[in-house]
Amino acid sequence: MIEFKNLHKSFGKLTVLDGLDLSIKKGGIFAILGPNGSGKTTLIKCLLGMVIPNKGEINFNNESVLKKWEYRNNLNYLPQIANFPPNLTVIELINMVKNLRPKESKESKLIELFGLEDFLNKKLGNLSGGTKQKVNIVLTFMFDSELIILDEPTTGLDPIALIHLKELIQQEKANGKTILITTHIMSVVDELADEIVFLLDGKIYFKGSIEALKKQTNNNNLEHAIANLI
Ligand code: ATP
Repeated sequence: MIEFKNLHKSFGKLTVLDGLDLSIKKGGIFAILGPNGSGKTTLIKCLLGMVIPNKGEINFNNESVLKKWEYRNNLNYLPQIANFPPNLTVIELINMVKNLRPKESKESKLIELFGLEDFLNKKLGNLSGGTKQKVNIVLTFMFDSELIILDEPTTGLDPIALIHLKELIQQEKANGKTILITTHIMSVVDELADEIVFLLDGKIYFKGSIEALKKQTNNNNLEHAIANLI
């Protein structure tokens, strides 16, 4: 479904992606892991066309995304940092996004699931970090899409919201969707991921199942297995 070939990206003298090759098949949950600054968000932004690579190819369903951006109508993206307009209310933003994408949307169910009913008329600039993240989640999951990209989706969530988010991700997988998720929370990876992709030094250092990683590092605890990998 997605193929990165010989991908290079530098910011000035800093090389972030250094000839990265990666293919991701359709369906399932892929955890993109790696130390802070290893290039996870940069990789995602290259896929989204928000960062232009210096060299390399990116294909989505066998077509180059660097030439054709229409494919983005078929993905949902949760950014690591949501820069919401502070003076809009929650419901104004949700309606604005809804009007931009004339597709069937399921925001009412999600608003209820994350207990946002009392926040709908509040300004986004006045919300707590966790509540903003719940809005971020509603905006990401309200439309149906083939590919869902979640950059640190658990940030600031309370335990109940975290359970709902994990269930939502599992439902999407059961519906045949492909989910890319970056997170530093290993319990989330352990519970959800079908495959781990570990970035280091601008390349894919490990790709495989959680079981394969535990076996390779001879460690049954995922956090320790990741630490032993490097
Ligand atoms: P984290 O786990 O901390 O979220 P990450 O793996 O997502 O990190 P990136 O955000 O992709 O890492 O950043 C990789 C490196 O590229 C970092 O050193 C970062 O400072 C640098 N970087 C990212 N974007 C830019 C930019 N626009 N200009 C300059 N440097 C950048």
